[in-house]
Order: sequence, then C-alpha cells, then structure tokens
Amino acid sequence: MSVTKRTATNVLLDTALKNFYGAVEEMRLDDNLIAILGNSERKLEVSVPVEMDDGSIQVFKGYRVQHSSAIGPSKGGIRFHPDVDADECEALAMLMTWKCSLAGIPYGGGKGGISCDPLTLSMKEKERMSRAYAARIAPIVGTWQDVPAPDVNTGGQEMVWFMDTISKLHGRVEPGIFTGKPISYWGSKGRTAATGYGVATCGLELLKAVGKDPKGVKVSVQGFGNVGSYTALTMANAGAKVVAISDVTGTYHSAKGIDIKKAFEHIESHPKKLLEGFSCDGCEKIEEIFSVDADLFFPCALEGAVNEKTAGKVKAKWIVEGANGPVTPEGDAILDQKGVIVVPDFLANSGGVIGSYFEWAQNLAGYFWTEEEYNERLMHIMKGNFKLVWDYAQSKKIKMRRAAFMAAIQRVADVVKLRGVFL
Ligand code: NAD
Repeated sequence: MSVTKRTATNVLLDTALKNFYGAVEEMRLDDNLIAILGNSERKLEVSVPVEMDDGSIQVFKGYRVQHSSAIGPSKGGIRFHPDVDADECEALAMLMTWKCSLAGIPYGGGKGGISCDPLTLSMKEKERMSRAYAARIAPIVGTWQDVPAPDVNTGGQEMVWFMDTISKLHGRVEPGIFTGKPISYWGSKGRTAATGYGVATCGLELLKAVGKDPKGVKVSVQGFGNVGSYTALTMANAGAKVVAISDVTGTYHSAKGIDIKKAFEHIESHPKKLLEGFSCDGCEKIEEIFSVDADLFFPCALEGAVNEKTAGKVKAKWIVEGANGPVTPEGDAILDQKGVIVVPDFLANSGGVIGSYFEWAQNLAGYFWTEEEYNERLMHIMKGNFKLVWDYAQSKKIKMRRAAFMAAIQRVADVVKLRGVFL
C-alpha cells in the first residue's frame, strides 16, 4: 500500500483507522479508494451558547462529522457526554459508514455530539442546549443530507427538540431529518424491540448455518436492558432454553430454563428496571455468566466484557455480539484458539439502524406500518445480511468480523468508483 496511513492520538479513532487499513490491505483495494475512504468528507465544530437557569451564559462545544455520503445521506447518533470531541465523532462516523453499508440501507456514516455533562443540567437547560445545537448544525443536516439519531444520553425527547427547532427554522414540518422519535410524534412502532430482535435473528441464522435446532440449544444473555431483554425473549420464543440472564445486580441461572416473560414482568415492576430479587423455578444467583454451561452466549451489556481475563472461561461454542465492542482483540484471540464462532457487533446489532431507516422511510411516505410489517421486513433484511457475511467468510476462509468489514468497505468503494471523484 503506497497510501500514507493516517494515525490518531485518540484511541477510538486510531483503532477505527487501523481496522480500516488492515481490511483494505487484505482486500487489495485500490490506493485511490483507500485515500478517499480513509478521510471524512466534512467535520463541523460549533459553539453552543446556552442561557443557564441562573441567568449566566455557558458556551458548549458541539460537533457533527460526516464520514461518507457516497451511498446516501450520512446517518448516526448525537451524544451528550463530557468526552465528546472531533476525533471521537470521526471514529464513530466512520464505523457508521461500514455499519450502514453492511446493513444494505441507503446511508453513509455520520456522528455528532456536545461536550457536556447532562447530569448537571436541568431539563430546561438541556432543551435550550439541544435547540441551540440543532440551529447550529441545521445547514448540514437534512432528510437527504444527514439524518441524526439518539446515542449516549439522548433519546426521543432530544430528537423532538431538534426536529421542532429545524421545522420552525424551515417553516414546515421536517420529520425525516431525525430518527428515534417517540411513536406519538412521527416515531415508529417496532423500534423498541428492533435491536434485540435483530441480534436474536442472527443467533437463529447461525444455528441454522451450523445445522442446530434452537429447541435443543442452551442460551445465556449478559445484560437485561433494551438489547438483552428482547434478545432473550426472541430466543425463548424460538424454543431455545435461556439458562442464564444477568444485569448490573448479578447473574441469574436455572438449568431448567428461565421464564423470560416473568423476567420482563419483574423488571417492569422494579423501580430501576432491574433483575434484583428475581426468582424462578430452579433459579440461583451465581458469580458470573461466562462459565455458565450454555451453547450460545449473547453479550448485550458492556464494551470489553469478554477480554483476556474472561474469554478463557467461556463455555459457549457460539457468541453473537449484541453490545458494541463486547469482545476485545485479546478476548477474540483466545476465543479463536478455542474455535468459538463470533458474529460481530456491527452485523448483529444493526437492527437498531435498520429500524431508523424504517422510521425515515415511513416519514418520507407519510404512512405508518404495523408492528408486524416492521418485524417481518427487519427479519428479512437481517437474514440476508447474515447470509452475506457467513458466505463471504466461508468462501475466503476468514473470521466473520473481518468478512463483515471487507464486505461493508467493498460496497462503499464500489459506489465511490461508480460515481467518480468529483463531488
Ligand atoms: P441498556 O442501558 O438498556 O442496558 C444495559 C444492560 O446491561 C442493563 O441491564 C444493565 O444492568 C446491564 N449491565 C451493566 N453492567 C453490567 C455488568 N457488569 N454485568 C452484567 N450486566 C450489566 O442498554 P442497551 O440499549 O441494551 O445497550 C446495550 C449495548 O448495546 C450497548 O453497548 C449499546 O451501545 C449497544 N447497542 C444498543 C442499541 C439499541 O438500540 N439500544 C443498538 C446498537 C447497539
């Protein structure tokens, strides 16, 4: 490769660049395409002045990075966090390009945020900050330009403030600029369960690929939040035996199989939506989830959970990554030696971004789908994407993670080549 490789002091950006250069080298991608895709199209830094409740003015720093718009409008979340900076946004924007490409949806990648501590802000301060940020990034976001979504510390309420601000600036309702909106205001049915449903669909496709009937399979799920709970429920509904679930309060195990509907009822009635105090037939609380006797393990909680300390304990033959980055490179190497097959995060948890695409499509049409239509379309896309990566990995005799990266980058590179260099 004769292209000068970019490096970064920010760990996240440096890792994103290393993964990119590693994959394109193996793909023998054309140097000109490497040079184009190794850089972001646009990086915007804005000042966000906010009148605080005590009358003082505080100026926050905001960002929006568009890594690529080759395939379609940039897509990616907006986070409110003290660590947000331009490099972090660029790394996450690049990952969104590959995630959307692999998902087969018509988007490029973007990411943004405000460097702030939302826990110290009142609701009114957060609203004024959200509206000021939306006004600042208004010139570069749009239904056909860049479509942001929720991320760390943002949700439906922030999306409504963003959308309302830009709708007022434009003098017309603009539902297609932001996704992740509440169902009551241009949001979509089906979104809550979408990521977990997609994660479980990958698990079921994996079982099919290795010739196993889910009915004889034991499953463990780390994390019982949005992703983990719907993953567990979908696997149980497919006939698998969920023998362990966990959250921040501990790991709950039953060799007889856990009643997942009961676990849902439990968290619904818990003030903090936790499994604390959960009991079921044969249930015991155990130390940790990794060494549980399960065939299929879904880490759906934390980044870096399966690492050099924990990977050796894993008994499962298959892992489907529900969380973002739950297996570290060191953990991956140990799992590889043990012959464990890992379905990578940006394939497995792409149900979230595919759900965003569904919301956008419904907003464009001004016509809402039923939950059944939403789930059917999601399952169809997830199955197709799993097959694409599985077949690519088998044909090239490489791991699914590398195959996913290569397939995703190739799709973007092909479109860049097709469209040509002129902007
Ligand atoms: P969440 O906050 O709803 O749930 C997180 C769960 O993890 C909670 O049950 C929490 O108690 C549990 N947890 C925290 N620490 C734990 C520990 N040490 N051991 C066991 N469990 C622990 O979050 P979520 O939306 O379900 O997201 C989980 C992961 O999936 C994150 O990495 C997120 O980035 C990723 N993800 C989420 C979506 C989505 O649509 N929600 C989409 C793509 C990726």
